[in-house]
Amino acid sequence: MTKKERAAALIKDFPELRKKDVDRCMKLMPHHILFRHDRSECRCNYCGKVITMDENPEYLLLLNHDTKTTCPACGKEGYAVCDCYNYSNTVERGASNFAVFRKGEGDICYVYCIRIRIRLDRQIGGFAVEDYSYTESQRYIFADGLAYRFGREEHGYFDPKQNRAVYCFSPWQYRTRYTEPTWDQPGFCTDKQYCPVGDDDLGGTCLQYAQIDKFEGIALFLYIQFYLKHPNVEYLVKLGFQKMVSGWFTGYCTAIPDWIDWKQNDVRKMLGVNAYELRRIREQSIDITDYHTMREMCPFLSVEECFIYMNIVRYNYGYLSIFDDDKRRREMLRYIRRQNEKYAESKGFMTLREYRDYFSECRQLQYDWNDRTIRFPRCLADAHTRSSNAVTALRYEELQREKLRKDEEARRKFEESTRKRRRLGFEKDGLMIRIPAALHEIVDEGRALHHCVGGYASRHAEGKLHILFIRKAAAPDTPYFTMELSAEGKVVQVRGLRNCDPPKAVKAFVEDYKKYILPLFAKRQEREKVRISA
Ligand SMILES: [Zn+2]
Repeated sequence: MTKKERAAALIKDFPELRKKDVDRCMKLMPHHILFRHDRSECRCNYCGKVITMDENPEYLLLLNHDTKTTCPACGKEGYAVCDCYNYSNTVERGASNFAVFRKGEGDICYVYCIRIRIRLDRQIGGFAVEDYSYTESQRYIFADGLAYRFGREEHGYFDPKQNRAVYCFSPWQYRTRYTEPTWDQPGFCTDKQYCPVGDDDLGGTCLQYAQIDKFEGIALFLYIQFYLKHPNVEYLVKLGFQKMVSGWFTGYCTAIPDWIDWKQNDVRKMLGVNAYELRRIREQSIDITDYHTMREMCPFLSVEECFIYMNIVRYNYGYLSIFDDDKRRREMLRYIRRQNEKYAESKGFMTLREYRDYFSECRQLQYDWNDRTIRFPRCLADAHTRSSNAVTALRYEELQREKLRKDEEARRKFEESTRKRRRLGFEKDGLMIRIPAALHEIVDEGRALHHCVGGYASRHAEGKLHILFIRKAAAPDTPYFTMELSAEGKVVQVRGLRNCDPPKAVKAFVEDYKKYILPLFAKRQEREKVRISA
């Protein structure tokens, strides 16, 4: 029998969801206390208790819509919901996804993936009542050591008899791609979170020892698939390594270490450690993956030294490569350890990270790393402070030099473009064109005339446009009008005080000026044309 045929046979016997399973999920839905707006009574959706005004007026009077409250009957915390708040007859109060596990024949375990929605229905003049509905989005079967996933499609069509759209589902189909439940089929919410709800007794099924209830927020179905392949993972979970196992299925660290020997039934052999190492690892809640990396990177250390130095290395295994020979590595670790024995209390605890910072600072400062007093200074903390200050000073100096260089370059460019702009100067009928002698003049002009020319200064400096001052020849230093000329020699705008338009005399002057510059730019364009065709 192929896997597909076996799947087809298995899905035939998939039992319908029981009411008690749905009820169990309902208990895990968000809790609320529904109260009548006239505060005559309220009802807890968890315990079902109805509290009337005669019974507990203080509680009823203090209820506020959408604020937290605690049911006086069952003690469950939930939100108070007013029966007439912001809706007319039907409103969705909450929805959650669940994966319900159920024991089947032999070793078979069935899983229903359902989404439950709670609605509040209210008839005119009546008290709102709760109603719920659920949809099954996916099914899983775990049998004879294999994992099966089933899905179905929702079809919608228009029924002319009922004059509305009708939805129905296709039969369950075996899906060859095994994934976590997908909830975003048509009609399903994209909310992917789901809550596993276990059967009271999975005994006898292939998931009996899967420790499903020990996990939260992991890709549970991927874990189950892995468990069916490597049931020994149970021992790791039981021994307290469930954090490590969780890590494999949370999407952050999917790499399952290759040094675990899944053929072994003895945890020590699985993990490649002896009884003493295992005890120390569990006692100090050391990450066993780290311990393995440490042993691999520092084969020259004894077991005891490994445990001591792990605290100094602290996940920064890459930094061990400061030294490439074992002798120096051991010397470095021993040095940091001694530093901590002497100075940890007064100067703070040093780890490999601090040492590596010190190392890279020494390199930037071009200190001689072969010098033992540099490599292993008397007090690492002090030496590190000194080197870090020196690096900061060095960097500041570099920045200053860079800034000076840039300023100088900008000044040179500006002078060059001013030289080129000299021919743009012009004078007629008591008006003149003045070329800005420095960038700050453009900013000053904008301030004096209350317009925005200041913002053009950088483009002027880069030669992308020309800002020119129109001044009275009798007062060449007093801002009057400002002109923007495009790089191609077109007058783009002429602005005076608070963006006012120029008077006739200035307009005539601008017309004359246009005539004056026409040949200057025409020549340039021709030159460029010749260059292109040549
Ligand atoms: Zn209650």
